[in-house]
Amino acid sequence: PIKKILISSCFLGERVRYNGVVKPLVNKLLEQWKKQGRLIAICPEVISGLPVPRPPAEIDPNTKKVITIESIDVTEQFDKGAKLALRLCRQHNIQVALLKESSPSCGSNTIYDGTFRQQKIIGEGVTTKLLRGHGIKVFCEDSIEELAAQIEN
Ligand code: SF4
Repeated sequence: PIKKILISSCFLGERVRYNGVVKPLVNKLLEQWKKQGRLIAICPEVISGLPVPRPPAEIDPNTKKVITIESIDVTEQFDKGAKLALRLCRQHNIQVALLKESSPSCGSNTIYDGTFRQQKIIGEGVTTKLLRGHGIKVFCEDSIEELAAQIEN
């Protein structure tokens, strides 16, 4: 069977981003994978019940809680979204994911530092962390070629 890829819905141009702005990822490999039926899309934040648009949220580096710019704790929703993403991976026997860098759910190398000052730090989002904890390899828009190499093996 064809190897499937979990993908951040926002990469496919779905209106799921916190600010409501559609921002598809334009990439040849992505087009190919879409045609091949490889892509299984999820937005962990929207599937958890959060609205579009929604206030931006960042992970507090000390408490690891996810807090919105309005100081609301949305950790529970983010955890729920991560679990639903993991469940989807299991349903489709998915071993690799292509997730949006720097998102508090989907980031895989960097996230924002919790101060809402556009400062990035090394870290990973809530969904990425859970998926990696279960052996799923997470890639971002800058490592699509590496992902491609993975699914060819
Ligand atoms: Fe995209 Fe992930 Fe943010 Fe949803 S949570 S908008 S899929 S980066």
